[in-house]
Amino acid sequence: MPELPEVETVLRGLKQRVLGRRISAVEVSHPQVIVGSSDEFVELLRGREIRDGTRKGKAIALELGPLPGFPAPGRRSGRPRQSGQPGRDNAGSRYLLVRLGMTGQFTVNPSAAPLEPHTHVRLALDDGREEIRYRDPRRFGRLRCCTAEELDEIFGALGPDAPEISRREFVAALRGRRGAIKSWLMNQQVLAGLGNIYADEALFAARLHPLSPAGRISAKTAGNLLRAVKNVLRRAVNLQGTSFSDYIDIEGRPGNFLPRLKVYQRTGEPCRRCKKPIERLVIGGRSSHFCPRCQRRVESRKSTVKS
Ligand SMILES: [Zn+2]
Repeated sequence: MPELPEVETVLRGLKQRVLGRRISAVEVSHPQVIVGSSDEFVELLRGREIRDGTRKGKAIALELGPLPGFPAPGRRSGRPRQSGQPGRDNAGSRYLLVRLGMTGQFTVNPSAAPLEPHTHVRLALDDGREEIRYRDPRRFGRLRCCTAEELDEIFGALGPDAPEISRREFVAALRGRRGAIKSWLMNQQVLAGLGNIYADEALFAARLHPLSPAGRISAKTAGNLLRAVKNVLRRAVNLQGTSFSDYIDIEGRPGNFLPRLKVYQRTGEPCRRCKKPIERLVIGGRSSHFCPRCQRRVESRKSTVKS
């Protein structure tokens, strides 16, 4: 499943290839991946210029200019404004919100290239010689055309983007939390961007057992964990993410982080630090991979987080 590094890689690729280009035609062959009416989706997108791209957590938003003949006063690019600010004329601009789900792939292809199975949406660019394709075998991903206000609301429901959160915010968010740190790290409402892969890797780097109760982690350990989270994400972004089966970038290339994984999907293989076999357990319905020797479990009764 694509997490922040994979989504960031897709976003960077899109920004290189499609900014300033116009969506000249839209074809939806599987309406299930569209939020709302797919006819309306087609009508809303066709003719618009792709002006910018942003991301929060695992969601991408492409900013689309107004329809031709519908000039937009006011803001033309940049991040969506924060919720709660006074109204601003939307002036016809829209955002294409993309969540890749489990197996979503966004690629830019020559329109003449053969279509792969499970290609559900095609966005022809400019003169139609190239197009953006959305392919998704399992169809958990979603595309939605929304207003700036709707995007603000959607992004506002997510916690801070993992690379941006401060130590103070991170420690405060842990306070009083019941449940395992592994589940907490993957909760998009408290911290946006991490999934199973990078949560496991960050916990290993911080030498913290995935079942440690989130609210019982000391401020010092929390600081180490946050550093580990940011490090692993930065390194994974630099290597274009991790590919297990489906993830590819917009040029169709896999990520290069797979050989760097220390624990994820390495059950039974020797720990790269101490040689003890990596173990797996299920937390909140998801597999967790960890070293039983290197990763210490914080006890439930120990002191709570202090800032
Ligand atoms: Zn170990």
